[in-house]
Amino acid sequence: MYNIKNNIAKIKFNLPSHVKLIAVSKTKSNEAILEAYETGHKIFGENYIQELVAKQAVLPSDINWHFIGHLQSNKVKYIAPFIYCIHSVDSLKLLQEINKQAIKNNRKIKCLLQVYIAREETKFGLNYTEVEEILKIRQQLENVEIIGFMSMASNTNDKKVIMEEFTQLHQFYKLQQSQNPLLNELCIGMSNDYEIAIGCGATIIRIGSSIFGTRN
Ligand SMILES: *Cc1c(COP(=O)(O)O)cnc(C)c1O
Repeated sequence: MYNIKNNIAKIKFNLPSHVKLIAVSKTKSNEAILEAYETGHKIFGENYIQELVAKQAVLPSDINWHFIGHLQSNKVKYIAPFIYCIHSVDSLKLLQEINKQAIKNNRKIKCLLQVYIAREETKFGLNYTEVEEILKIRQQLENVEIIGFMSMASNTNDKKVIMEEFTQLHQFYKLQQSQNPLLNELCIGMSNDYEIAIGCGATIIRIGSSIFGTRN
């Protein structure tokens, strides 16, 4: 049987202390999430709005929910009251809507800019120029805190390709950080590539299947 508690313990045992783990619980049951929660883990990531809203309503209120899926502007309002961090900011329009909803809820929402680094055409995200443009005007959006970047490498088994993509992003991140001291998070690495990501400077990793088992 898949042992969620063991899986979390194993991953955390080898995690450098500056790297945070997001347990990606999309499509998984509340029971599975609670099993992870019982180990003391409180950081969870979800991809779908309806699913996240339903889970948040019934699961412990001290969970830090991270939204990591593609986000449409018209859905921001459903998660704005409680979301801890939105990882998938891939347009200025979306960021403006997050700011608007954060103001309505009288709170600040942490955001990561999703950067496109993969060679495939299918992934969402901003290119480096677009990231720089958003960072220039970020002070106008007072209720969002841009704390760093999130990204996904190409879906390949070629470790060299993954390492090249992460390394290039890390260099860009360091450069931006030298001009924007509030950028402190680089969220890269999933079940298949998180060890490479940590080697390339990840500060947050997002792990689903290595904790909860494969998804249908
Ligand atoms: C599903 C998902 C993950 C987790 O993927 P695993 O391979 O199951 O670890 C991480 N990040 C994003 C953006 C995802 O959609």
